[in-house]
Amino acid sequence: MSDNPSFLMRGIEDVTFEQRPVPEIVDDEVLVSVKKTGICGSDVHFVVAGRIGNFIVEKPMVLGHESSGVVTKVGPNVKTLKVGDRVAMEPGATCRKCDACKSGRYELCPNIVFAATPPHDGTLGRYYRIPEDICYKLPDNLTLEDGAMIEPLSVAVHAIANIAGFRPNQSIVVFGAGPVGLACMAAARALGASRVVAVDIVPGRLEFAKSYAATDTYLPPPMEPGEARLRYSERNAATLMKTLGIEERGPRSIDLVVDASGAEVSIQTGIIVAKTGGTYVQVGMGSPEIVIPVTTLLTKELTFKGSFRYGPGDYPLAIALVAQGKIDLKPLITHRFKFEDAEEAFKTTRTGKSSDGKGVIKAVISGPDVSPDEY
Ligand SMILES: [Zn+2]
Ligand SMILES: [Zn+2]
Repeated sequence: MSDNPSFLMRGIEDVTFEQRPVPEIVDDEVLVSVKKTGICGSDVHFVVAGRIGNFIVEKPMVLGHESSGVVTKVGPNVKTLKVGDRVAMEPGATCRKCDACKSGRYELCPNIVFAATPPHDGTLGRYYRIPEDICYKLPDNLTLEDGAMIEPLSVAVHAIANIAGFRPNQSIVVFGAGPVGLACMAAARALGASRVVAVDIVPGRLEFAKSYAATDTYLPPPMEPGEARLRYSERNAATLMKTLGIEERGPRSIDLVVDASGAEVSIQTGIIVAKTGGTYVQVGMGSPEIVIPVTTLLTKELTFKGSFRYGPGDYPLAIALVAQGKIDLKPLITHRFKFEDAEEAFKTTRTGKSSDGKGVIKAVISGPDVSPDEY
């Protein structure tokens, strides 16, 4: 265990491989040999912009946070894991002492050590050190790739089950059919949704959504020249509702709207589409400042909530839904890369397709000396 090759960013548009020390584990920590890592929009965003909101990359940072692996060493106080266990790693270690942690919303912990959110290193190395309680043993019927995909699925489970409190036989519209949007559709379906509407501006993504978890799809019309954004969103919402037979109230109304796109017009349209007394949850990060139809929010008494990462119970629920066969994560993995080709994986995620023109949903990078053909 002498070497720990890692893929890191030194600055904006500057990525490289470097040897890092093998992490030392203590107490209740385990050392995981990283096998599969999914690439997320946020990883790419750090490389392109050097920051997300107030998280600014100021020193070299190992990338990656959606990972699975095999336990290679356990600390003296570890009770639930042993060497050789296949695990999904929840990438945020929380302090357990602050108000947020103690009130059961640990995703809001100000002291969180989150993989590949500056200043903390991520998981794209040979080894990653993690406390045992956020390292989940994978059921035998889950692959290591499934284990990596539990991260984006947990983002969805958090939004749908935890933040929105979605119940069986409710209806949902999801804006954005990227990995998190698709995972939200799958989670809603698994929890007994009566109707799952996918909205995206890319027809191919809608076709996939329909084959995967959506019951209906909707392709927004283009904006007219000179049309104000909010006017466009009103027209878009009216067309969506008419086309799909959605009403403002009653059995044909939409209980929950989730935005996984971050686009201003999607957020505006979603607020208008949600039923009177319904719920709207923001998951997608896009434009940091947007205009919303606040009177609509008020007169419909919408519940408008933000959803950030995942909290207590989200990883276990995501794993259970996959283990029970209610969600299939395999169709979401479209591209696989060797560790040495990590930069290519980032490029592919960034452009949205590989050089052969195939659209990306999720690109997965294998650990050092792990074959992309081994799932
Ligand atoms: Zn992610
Ligand atoms: Zn805390």
